[in-house]
Amino acid sequence: MIRVNPSGGWLEVICGPMFSGKSEEMMRRLRRAEIAGRRVVIFKPRIDDRYDTADIVSHAGARMRGVAVASVSELTASARAFEVVGIDEVQFFPSEVVAAVLALADAGVRVVAAGLDRDFRRLPFGPMPELLAHAEFVDKLQAVCHRCGGPATTTQRLVDGRPAPYSGETIIVGANEQYEARCRECHERGEELAAVAA
Ligand SMILES: [Zn+2]
Repeated sequence: MIRVNPSGGWLEVICGPMFSGKSEEMMRRLRRAEIAGRRVVIFKPRIDDRYDTADIVSHAGARMRGVAVASVSELTASARAFEVVGIDEVQFFPSEVVAAVLALADAGVRVVAAGLDRDFRRLPFGPMPELLAHAEFVDKLQAVCHRCGGPATTTQRLVDGRPAPYSGETIIVGANEQYEARCRECHERGEELAAVAA
């Protein structure tokens, strides 16, 4: 592979729960690189259409142009010719994203990957453990606990105001689903679906 960046590539991972400012922090870093004249791009998985399919938007409303990709191979193909590559919501990519990101870093690309380190059950999310292990730089951000105001490190999933069932990837039709940032103390484990039904 041709080296993109004479100063060498590396991997930065920005992780934490929802509402901890991961996307904002990634955009801040990429804007700095853009100001320095670097060729910058942001990718995100196509499944995430919370706000806008083409733009990366943080919860705080900051916005940068992004490219939605359907697969890791599409990401790799589109990343050519960029010196700095941001990846938002990286936890949603399949495990192949790890090798793809390492290949980019080996080729001299600065990769800034942002994502949830853990899911609403507080289990490691998708490719995050491996990305964190390989990264040269890691930042774990905190949000503010919705309950007590302390430093929040977890994401609480609520369905109709109650902790979501632990075993539930289940989409509950018509249910009002919400997410909150919570600290370790305030995070509630949802009941099993069977227990709820009984
Ligand atoms: Zn709390």
